[in-house]
Amino acid sequence: MPVNNRIASFQNDMVAWRQHLHEHPELSYQEHETARFVAEKLLSFGIEVTEGIGGTGVVGVLEGNNGEGRSVGLRADMDALAIAEMNDFGYKSKKPGIMHACGHDGHTAMLLGAARYLAETRNFAGRVVFIFQPAEEMGGDDGGAARMINEGLFDRFQCDEIYGVHNWPGMEVGSFAVKAGPMMASGDGFDIAVRSNGMHAAQPQKGCDVVLTAAHIIVALQQLVARNTDPLDALVVSATQIHGGDAYNVIPNEVNIRGTVRAFSPVARANAEPCLRRIAEGICASTGAECEINYTRQYPTLVNEEASTRVAEHVGRSVFKDVNTSPPQTMIVEDFAFLLEKKPGCYAWIGNGPDDNGRILHSAWFDFNDEALPFGASYFAGLVERPVSS
Ligand SMILES: [Zn+2]
Ligand SMILES: [Zn+2]
Repeated sequence: MPVNNRIASFQNDMVAWRQHLHEHPELSYQEHETARFVAEKLLSFGIEVTEGIGGTGVVGVLEGNNGEGRSVGLRADMDALAIAEMNDFGYKSKKPGIMHACGHDGHTAMLLGAARYLAETRNFAGRVVFIFQPAEEMGGDDGGAARMINEGLFDRFQCDEIYGVHNWPGMEVGSFAVKAGPMMASGDGFDIAVRSNGMHAAQPQKGCDVVLTAAHIIVALQQLVARNTDPLDALVVSATQIHGGDAYNVIPNEVNIRGTVRAFSPVARANAEPCLRRIAEGICASTGAECEINYTRQYPTLVNEEASTRVAEHVGRSVFKDVNTSPPQTMIVEDFAFLLEKKPGCYAWIGNGPDDNGRILHSAWFDFNDEALPFGASYFAGLVERPVSS
């Protein structure tokens, strides 16, 4: 068996923790019960605990028995999403409209599993910093990672390296994927307000039609990808919200378009904002509408550092049945990218089993696969227990 035997022996406890967390999900920065649960478990393992970093963040510190060594940061996220769960099993969410649809219940449980094991054995040099982060789903400067950093995470708890994982539906349980360099995209948000005087829908000549203007803008935004970006660079522009109007016979005086821009290269990212502004403002000028644009930088690209990625790969091979070192990049963003801007480290994906029947991230039918718990916990423990020289 590739997973750590001792960790495998308390699989039932990890499953119970995971299902307890699943039943009691909490939104970003409201993870009060979750943080308490985590802190109590860490204390019961004999780990030193600091609460309230970055709102509801919890940090545990544990020294090894084998003398001086590196300080390894391990991070799990704790928040759930505003989604009404459609599953119907015993541990289904008890909170209407909130569910663990991204598997952070599993990430928290597997890091607690590693903490329990490492506290029991302490067979490592240096120390380990367990980082239970709030508000991963909020992201950006307001997200849990940035806020923990701003509140002194790395000043108060020195970390030489930092590691994290995300469960990945569509990858078999017991499989692992990692690669050096950019792995997940940057993500920025835009708000475009298109304004003019409203009018009777039957008399469009009496003003400027902001609905039609907004429609032109949404179509033209794809020019950013198709014509304004190097064809060898990846870029996604998705308009995800349109708000405006509430009658059949009135052209409203405002329409709002919101959406997201994803990129890997700094050039493509930097280029997107001025192009988006030019397109939206140019179309508004052509129809006579006013245009107000707010463009916010939200997530940096997630870039895995070379040496830490080799460590992750090496430890991954000792734990997982299958290690993929050339997984496709994804345009999904991840708050862990902020931590990787500050410290060398690596973010990896671990298999969550088939992605059929709605078992995809952020779906109302999602559920973390408990069979992945011992793999994730063993991987975390292996990162800490590896020889000092590696
Ligand atoms: Zn998510
Ligand atoms: Zn997630």
